Amino acid sequence: MTKRREQVVRVSDAEGFAEAGAVLTIDLAAIRANYRLLRTMLGGARCAAVVKADAYGLGADRVAPALVKEGCDTFFVAHLSEGIALRKILGESPEIFVLNGLPPGAEGACAAAGLIPVLNSEAQLVAWREHAARDRKTLPAAVQVDSGMARLGMPPEEVARIAFDPRAFDGIDVRLVMSHFARADEPREAANATQRAVFEALAKMLPAAPRSLANSSGIFPGAENHYDLARPGCALYGVNPVPGTENPMLPVVRLEAKVIQTREIPAGSGIGYGHAAKAVEKMRLATISLGYADGWHRRAASFAFLAGQRLPFVGRVSMDSIILDISALPPGSLAPGTLVELIGPHQSVDEVAAQAGTIGYEVLTSFGSRFHRVYVGG
Ligand SMILES: *Cc1c(COP(=O)(O)O)cnc(C)c1O
Repeated sequence: MTKRREQVVRVSDAEGFAEAGAVLTIDLAAIRANYRLLRTMLGGARCAAVVKADAYGLGADRVAPALVKEGCDTFFVAHLSEGIALRKILGESPEIFVLNGLPPGAEGACAAAGLIPVLNSEAQLVAWREHAARDRKTLPAAVQVDSGMARLGMPPEEVARIAFDPRAFDGIDVRLVMSHFARADEPREAANATQRAVFEALAKMLPAAPRSLANSSGIFPGAENHYDLARPGCALYGVNPVPGTENPMLPVVRLEAKVIQTREIPAGSGIGYGHAAKAVEKMRLATISLGYADGWHRRAASFAFLAGQRLPFVGRVSMDSIILDISALPPGSLAPGTLVELIGPHQSVDEVAAQAGTIGYEVLTSFGSRFHRVYVGG
C-alpha cells in the first residue's frame, strides 16, 4: 500500500525540492492505519494520540488533523506551549491533555486555551483549584499518580492525604486518572503487574473517572493494561512498540539525502575529519548533504542505500555532510542530485537507532529543520 502511493506522489515534483539537501517524506495514511490497528487491539477502550514534541518530530500541524479524520478526539502533549499551539490547529472540540502539568503561574494560560492539565502534585492541584475558585468556574483536570516510575505524578502518600480532604477537588472536574509504565516494552517484568496493582489502589482513592495506563508498548501485552483510554505515541509513527519481535506497525517516514559530489581517490588517501578512514585501495566516494546538524548522530556508523545496494559511510559524520563508499556501484550510477535512502524500505528507524546506540524515538525527534518535508497520503 505504501509502495504504490510513493509511485503516485513523486517527491521530486514538489515545490522546494530543488533547494533541499535532504527530503523527509511522512506518510499520513500510514499514521492513520496505525491508529486504526491500535484501536482494533484496544477493543472497547478509547485510543488517544500522543503528539508531544511536534508529533515526535513529524509535524503536529499535519499529524493531529489526520488523526481527527480517523475519529481521534483526545490528544496528549508534553508542554503547555505545545498545547496552546495544538488548540489553534484543532479548534475547540478535541480534548488536549498536558502531560508535564501546570508550570507555576501558568494556570490562566492553561485555562484560556481550554487545555486539561495533568496534575502531577498536590501543589498543582491546589493551584488549579484556587484558580477555579477565583474564576468561579469548574475546570477540567487529569490526575497522575506515581505507580512506580518515580518520574511524574503524585506519590501514594500524597494521594492518601488528598483522599482524606473532602474539599480537595472542589471546582475540579476530574476527566482522567492516569499513570505511566516504566517497563511496558518488557511485558514479562513483574514491575508491570506491580504498577497495575498500585495504580488501581490509588485510583480508588480518587474521584471516579476514566483510567489510563498504557503507552504504545503497554497496549500489546493485553487487555489488563488497557483500562478506559490508551495513550500511544511511537507506534503511530512506525517505531516498533514490541522490541525483539516483528514490528506490527506500518513504516511512516522515509529519509533521503542528495548526492552533492562524487570522486575517485587513490590508495593511501585519508578520508574526512581526522583522516579517521584511509583508502587501502583505489575507491570511489560520494558526499551527501546530510549531517549531524540534521539530527543524524555522529557516532552512528551506518549505511545509505541506492536501489537496495548498501553504501557504507566512510570516516566521520560532518555537520552538513557524510561521505559514502560507492566503489561497489557501477560507475555513473550516482550523480549530483541523486537521492540515496537513509531511512526507508531498506533501513528502518529502529535499525538506524540501534546503530547509534539509541531508540527510534530519539532518531525521529532529532530530525532537523533543514529537511524538505513532503506529506503523502493526506
Ligand atoms: C510519551 C508518553 C506516552 C507515549 O509513549 P509511547 O511510548 O511513545 O507510546 C504516553 N504517556 C506518557 C505519560 C508519555 O510521557
